[in-house]
Parts: sequence; structure tokens; C-alpha cells
Amino acid sequence: MAVWKCPQCGHEQEARCKPKKCPNCAEQGPFTKKEGEKKDK
Ligand SMILES: [Zn+2]
Repeated sequence: MAVWKCPQCGHEQEARCKPKKCPNCAEQGPFTKKEGEKKDK
């Protein structure tokens, strides 16, 4: 699963798909994908 970070409040959401809405601040802006581990390079 990927970790998505809200650009507005920095809330991190773990989800398979890109969240449409931030559960913390209701920001609908673009979430940024946060790569935890880079297995394949
Ligand atoms: Zn947020």
C-alpha cells in the first residue's frame, strides 16, 4: 500500500488509491505519494 501525504496539513493517509479528500482538513488538493521503501530501482 502507498502512503499519501496531504499538501495542506501534512496528514498521511495510507491507501491503495489516491485519496480524493483529506480526512483531516478536507483539502481536496493533490495528495503526494510518499514512498516508504524503494525496492525496485
Ligand atoms: Zn489535510
